[in-house]
Amino acid sequence: MRLRHIPGSEEMIENSPYVVQNPEERKGHWKELFGNENPIEIEVGMGKGKFIMELAQKNPDVNYIGIERYPTVMLKALQKREQLELSNIYFMCVDAKELGEYFEEGEVSRIFLNFSDPWPKDRHAKRRLTSPQFMAVYDRILKKDGVVEFKTDNRGLFDYSLESIPEAGWIVDSHTFDLHHSDMAEGNVMTEYETKFASEGKPICKLVAYRK
Ligand code: SAM
Repeated sequence: MRLRHIPGSEEMIENSPYVVQNPEERKGHWKELFGNENPIEIEVGMGKGKFIMELAQKNPDVNYIGIERYPTVMLKALQKREQLELSNIYFMCVDAKELGEYFEEGEVSRIFLNFSDPWPKDRHAKRRLTSPQFMAVYDRILKKDGVVEFKTDNRGLFDYSLESIPEAGWIVDSHTFDLHHSDMAEGNVMTEYETKFASEGKPICKLVAYRK
C-alpha cells in the first residue's frame, strides 16, 4: 500500500487518549487499563479499524486492541474512534513483530489477521503475518485455548498460510475458500478491504487456527 505522509500524524497519535503510549509498561497489566477481567482480543494490521470498532460495539464484554504500524493509517481509525462512545477498545501504533514486548504470555484470547499484506516474493516470506516467525510471536502471547482468525482475498497468501500455520505447530480447525457463501459466514463482520473485494465479486478465504 502506498502511503501519503500526513504532517502532524505522529503528534496526533502521541497525544490521543485512545492510543496506548509506552505499551511495554502495560505488559501483564492490560486488565487495569480496561478496568475489568474481560478477555482481550487484538487485530494485527487493523488499517482504518472498521472491523475492530464494529466488534467493540457489538461485544461490550470483550476488550479490543487494534494494532497498526503506520501513524498515517491509524489517524483514519482515530477519526472514526472519536465519534464513538466506547470504553472497551484502544489502539497501539507498533510493529506486530514486537508484540511479545507488549503482552505477557497468555494475555491475549484471540488474534484477528485481516487482509494482511501478501508479500508475494519468496525473499519477503518472513514478513507475512502468517509466517512461522509471526506464528511464534502469537504462540507466546495467546492464551492456551486461544485462536487466530485469518481472512484474505489473496489465494496465494491463503494457500501459503494453510501450510505455514501447521508447520509452525498449529492446527487449522476450519477453513473456507468462499466465506460469504459458507457456513463460516454467520456473524461475520466485514473489514474495509473485505467490503471492497466482496463488492468486486472476489471470494474471501478464512481460516481459524489453534495450537496443538
Ligand atoms: N485489516 C484491514 C482491512 O482488512 O481492511 C487493513 C488491511 S491492509 C491491507 C493491512 C494493514 O496491516 C496495513 O494498514 C498495514 O500497515 C498493516 N500492517 C502490515 N504489517 C504490519 C505489522 N507488521 N505490524 C502492524 N501493522 C501491520
